[in-house]
Amino acid sequence: MHEIGLMQNILDTAVERAEQEGAHRIYMVEMRVGRAFGVAPKSLEMAFDVVKKGTIAEMAKLQVDYVPTVCYCSNCKIEFQPTDLLYECPECHQAYCEVRQGKEFELASLDVS
Ligand SMILES: [Zn+2]
Repeated sequence: MHEIGLMQNILDTAVERAEQEGAHRIYMVEMRVGRAFGVAPKSLEMAFDVVKKGTIAEMAKLQVDYVPTVCYCSNCKIEFQPTDLLYECPECHQAYCEVRQGKEFELASLDVS
């Protein structure tokens, strides 16, 4: 499962940050995930449950904040929120415009003690 590797990276970063702060436990891991990143929330949670075992984040909850997709059309010089996966410009209908926001996959914050 692809999500396991992704969540492993997030968890490693989380544990490293918590340890730098002298924390012994992580209670919550908050992430920012772009809608265009293309992972299902359920599979992220499942992957998190797998990778957190035996770490200081074992009891941690995962909270995911989803970032809406924003595209940019270089013809029209506008930003827009695409309505489907073709990222089509609403003005000139060019498909697969540049995705400016919505591909995030990162650690946002931690609750530790
Ligand atoms: Zn356009």
